Amino acid sequence: MIVAERKTIPELVEILNGHKKILVLGCGTCVTVCLAGGEREVSIISSALRIASNIRKLDFEIEELTIERQCDNVFIEQATEAIERNDVVLSLGCGAGVQAIAERFLEKPVYAGLNTEFIGVLEERGIWTEKCAACGACVLHQYGGICPITRCAKHMLNGPCGGSREDRCEVRPDRPCAWQLIYQRLKGIGQLDRLKKIAPPKNWETSLDGGCRVIIREDHRI
Ligand code: SF4
Ligand code: SF4
Repeated sequence: MIVAERKTIPELVEILNGHKKILVLGCGTCVTVCLAGGEREVSIISSALRIASNIRKLDFEIEELTIERQCDNVFIEQATEAIERNDVVLSLGCGAGVQAIAERFLEKPVYAGLNTEFIGVLEERGIWTEKCAACGACVLHQYGGICPITRCAKHMLNGPCGGSREDRCEVRPDRPCAWQLIYQRLKGIGQLDRLKKIAPPKNWETSLDGGCRVIIREDHRI
């Protein structure tokens, strides 16, 4: 899932200062699961903004709404009336959700209430970790399902850098060395032979470095 974090209330007040009718719009998918932008967070942030408005006499009028997905036109449709009757939208969706709303309502300011961080998983209660950098050419099959691009600080594709201490990463001592994990995993599934093959330099053309990426499925186009 996409993992995001809430901006602070002072940051949001700064962003919204000067506006009156504000729709705080949550998203019921990824950002709900990572406790950043679902119905509960819409309620918490709206309450905090009302308090800030009273204290600073900002005259905010806050409406709350959460839709299933902000990055999908079918669900955005359900927010149309609420968006139109407010002056601005504070989106608690990921960056894709914010932009999907903004592209649909061209004359309405749409602000990001979250910082979108990464694609990851819930590792344990209250801790989310990055697992995929969306490189566009997945090589997980070669590494026992452990991503060396995301989880190795140096993106090493042909073995460890040699700097790890015990099982810890040299760059991020709070994280395990990805190559320790790759070795253990390949050993566990009987595929250590994979490590004898030299991986060629990765083709980064499929990554974000080449600009905004687009997928076209001709079989789904009308
Ligand atoms: S190899 Fe690329 S697509 Fe696959 S998990 Fe790693 S970053 Fe994501
Ligand atoms: S210690 Fe391990 S995870 Fe950290 S940079 Fe070196 S090889 Fe990668």
